Amino acid sequence: MIPVEDAHRLVRERTGAPLPGSWVSLLDLLGRVLAEDVIAPADLPPFDSSAMDGYAVQAADVTVPGSSLAILGEVAAGQVWSGAPLRRGEAVRIMTGAPIPPGAAAVVPVEDARELEGRVIVLAPGRPGDHVRPAGNDVPAGCRVLRCGDVLTPARIGLLAALGRSGASVVNQARVAIMCTGEELLDPLEAAAGSRETAGREIREGASARADRTARALAPGQIWNSNAYGLQAQVLESGARPWYLGVCPDDLDQTRDRLRRALDQADVLVTTGGVSMGRHDHVGQALAELGEVLFTSVAQQPGKPLTFAVVRGKPVFALPGNPVSAALSFDLYVRPALRRMMGHQGGDRPRFWLSLAEPLSKRPGRAFYVRARFEGAVARPTGAQGSARWQSLADADGVLLIPEDAGDLPAGTEVEAIRL
Ligand code: AMP
Ligand code: MG
Repeated sequence: MIPVEDAHRLVRERTGAPLPGSWVSLLDLLGRVLAEDVIAPADLPPFDSSAMDGYAVQAADVTVPGSSLAILGEVAAGQVWSGAPLRRGEAVRIMTGAPIPPGAAAVVPVEDARELEGRVIVLAPGRPGDHVRPAGNDVPAGCRVLRCGDVLTPARIGLLAALGRSGASVVNQARVAIMCTGEELLDPLEAAAGSRETAGREIREGASARADRTARALAPGQIWNSNAYGLQAQVLESGARPWYLGVCPDDLDQTRDRLRRALDQADVLVTTGGVSMGRHDHVGQALAELGEVLFTSVAQQPGKPLTFAVVRGKPVFALPGNPVSAALSFDLYVRPALRRMMGHQGGDRPRFWLSLAEPLSKRPGRAFYVRARFEGAVARPTGAQGSARWQSLADADGVLLIPEDAGDLPAGTEVEAIRL
């Protein structure tokens, strides 16, 4: 059993290399990490334009209150003034976003003007340049607007589009193979497909009919495969692409064979179950035959049998079968690794401190990950903390990270937390 810190270090050392980049359309860039510096190819905005609906006038005419100017015509957004350059005493009606006509140097907003019989009277004087957005005022041509490593937010995607880009080069998403082990597992999607369930039937049939059908579907000794679906969602939430391989029987040859084939196409492999000391646990043995196993047990609860291996240069996380152990091991070890591979700086969730709402009993020796609700600055554990209890995780806002050396903690103790 190795300390938590050593486990994190070993994972970090073997999962550092970033994936290659490729070009992706604007529509699919959210949350991705840039693999290029983005330089503005031209001024943004590309021409001097009006920031208001009003009247474009010469510099000298805007400063004199009461000026009465002849209106020569109108220019709307998307049009260009085709008349002669403006002279003193002349104005062009202009809309927001329309190019400033040659000769004009300011815009008098409609609110500050009165139009009468083909002329406009300037009610409130302004200054040259008023309400004119100069070309390049947002970004001048040649300027570096985004850098390699920047995460693409909605605003940055908008900026790319404003520059006329149709996409960008970003770090590839990791393809994460997920394989569950266990003869006891029945897949809820496969069971539904097998009995020709139609989409939505579960909702229509009502609670008691649903409970009845569920009970009939499971043979004695069977349970639903829940890890597969929790983990696929976690992979998506990490920004990576899940590739679900189904359930592997508890058999060494099949386990070895399926792991090998999964690694042909995946960047990262995640398995659940079959890594404990049971006589039907074959994942550890299969990994040892295929590659290098870096650890098989970590001083933590839940998640002690967490196993980490590297096979043909690809990281393999063999998570314990208990749902909370699998989910938390994923979040604490796999997610940061995936985030780093996909170009995110740091990659870990931010940590903060909360005060325990109730005392916590714990023996020193293993880190304890307590599922808790966050109530302001206070953390309240979500009931019994068994590693098979999905409800304890489903009710939680996050986890408290109680270190290995801690013993019993009284209410009010400050503990470190992460939000899930
Ligand atoms: P194992 O690590 O294979 O010994 O599994 C530990 C516990 O987790 C057992 O009670 C399993 O039935 C349960 N378990 C294993 N895999 C899954 C899964 N995919 N979904 C839900 N429970 C599981
Ligand atoms: Mg098992």
